[in-house]
Amino acid sequence: MKKCIIIGSGLGGLSTGVVLAREGFDVTILEQEAQIGGCLQCFSRRGVKFETGMHFIGSAKPGQTLHRLLHFLKIDDDITLQELDKDAYDIIRLGHKEYRFPNGKEAFISQMTAYFPNEAEGIRRYVDCVERVAQSSSLHTLDTRNADSALSTEYQLRSINEIIDGLIDNPTLRDVLIGNLPLYAARRDKTPFSTHAFIANFYNQSCFRVVGGSDNIGKALLHKLEQYGGRVITNRKVVKINADDSHVTSVTTADGQVYPADIVVSAIHPVPTLQMTDSPLIRKAFRQRMSQLPNTIGIFSVYLDFKDGAMPYMNSNYYAYRPGFSPWDCEDYTQTDWPRGYLYMHFCHEPNPQFARAGVILSYMRFEDMTPWLGTQVGQRGEDYERFKLERAERLIDSLEQAFPGIRQNIRHYYTSTPLTYLNYTGTPQGSAYGIARDITLGVSSHVPQRTKLPGLYLTGQNINSHGILGVLVGTVVTCSDLLGTDYVYQQIIKANQ
Ligand SMILES: Cc1cc2nc3c(=O)[nH]c(=O)nc-3n(C[C@H](O)[C@H](O)[C@H](O)COP(=O)(O)OP(=O)(O)OC[C@H]3O[C@@H](n4cnc5c(N)ncnc54)[C@H](O)[C@@H]3O)c2cc1C
Repeated sequence: MKKCIIIGSGLGGLSTGVVLAREGFDVTILEQEAQIGGCLQCFSRRGVKFETGMHFIGSAKPGQTLHRLLHFLKIDDDITLQELDKDAYDIIRLGHKEYRFPNGKEAFISQMTAYFPNEAEGIRRYVDCVERVAQSSSLHTLDTRNADSALSTEYQLRSINEIIDGLIDNPTLRDVLIGNLPLYAARRDKTPFSTHAFIANFYNQSCFRVVGGSDNIGKALLHKLEQYGGRVITNRKVVKINADDSHVTSVTTADGQVYPADIVVSAIHPVPTLQMTDSPLIRKAFRQRMSQLPNTIGIFSVYLDFKDGAMPYMNSNYYAYRPGFSPWDCEDYTQTDWPRGYLYMHFCHEPNPQFARAGVILSYMRFEDMTPWLGTQVGQRGEDYERFKLERAERLIDSLEQAFPGIRQNIRHYYTSTPLTYLNYTGTPQGSAYGIARDITLGVSSHVPQRTKLPGLYLTGQNINSHGILGVLVGTVVTCSDLLGTDYVYQQIIKANQ
């Protein structure tokens, strides 16, 4: 049995662990935190549970891509999903007007055409383009037969705004179509259209919340891992990856323990991973390239605890932008006009809830805003940090009041988190929401490979392919394909779904 050490028990580490343990590897996942899951983690305050980094998922109906992956991992029966409103899984508010995204290609086209009748032809061409690009990648369809790598490559190198501006004339419609942009923190002229297409197509097929919280995904994966003989050890921060002249040999944790390994899979950001090894087999140029890659912006969150029976459950995601601002501009806020936009959602504690017990408001926050508190620890950052969070939370709730007058009186308590919180709890540099940003201006140099030049050291998680439940699980398929063979892994996925 080959000994495999995985660094980090987020979605990437846990899912890679399940696949490798099932294939006979002796898997140990080392997790720095007391709780497993990384962004799948939830926390409870005064008996109410809040999700921190996985609020809804897409394409989870039988036969759809995510469902096939969950079925391959054998966890689809262990989690309960609640479908979002098929007529309005996403609601985009621009200024004072709302636009609804319905599931399904034709429904989406007809709804957008009803809002913008003069753009009927452009809307159809845009939706066709999204579908073609999403289907061109075998990684996203899990079907190698119809993959079109030329198309896939082309749209990885062209920006979202280039494609949308070429198809759509109306500037408001252009903004509507990128209304859920906070889901991937895209940048004008930088983020590839393929990122937009994969995410738009993923959620347009179907959209769900995880009943009871996204930590149930982590628990289901842990259970499978243990069934296959693997284990997670918490409170074990890996600080060193050890190697001899030719191969990885072990990892060392902060408490000085050494864990021997034939294979080490790092399911954390590549920069801290590379800092843990001084092996000359990893070239300086590669280290430098990884350290210069831009990270996506961070997030400020306000977790809302609603009064009992006060807040009707909203079965949609709500993205709002202040009058005069586009989804593109939100990252460039000034200290006075923050927040330019936000995403507001309710959590689903039970199937078909009538009232929400909890919700969240998310808005971008740059890491530079955290400068006064760099190096401080959770709970000990000082009064000025608490004041800063309170002031920002109040501003976000004021913005929410514009769209939902009177909502403040339904809030019993609220709690906040900043990019520093994410830095602490997931170790992602700069508390970045989604890890490394895809950037067409960097060309192939923004690619993060799943294997390193140090034999036995692999990478997985959100930085390999993309973030989000699908992006990370596709990263797992990529890394496991390298270890087990691509044909073999695809065959296993097909077999599991027959
Ligand atoms: C606010 C927010 C909302 C989101 N909403 C959604 C959503 O609705 N739907 C969706 O699909 N995606 C969403 N995402 C994205 C998604 O949550 C992530 O892309 C995904 O969970 C990342 O998984 P990961 O395993 O790559 O990394 P992580 O979840 O970051 O896991 C990394 C793990 O490694 C551990 N670790 C780090 N360093 C060490 C070390 N040295 N030793 C040991 N352990 C270590 C960390 O503690 C952590 O547990 C959201 C993300 C954020 C931030």
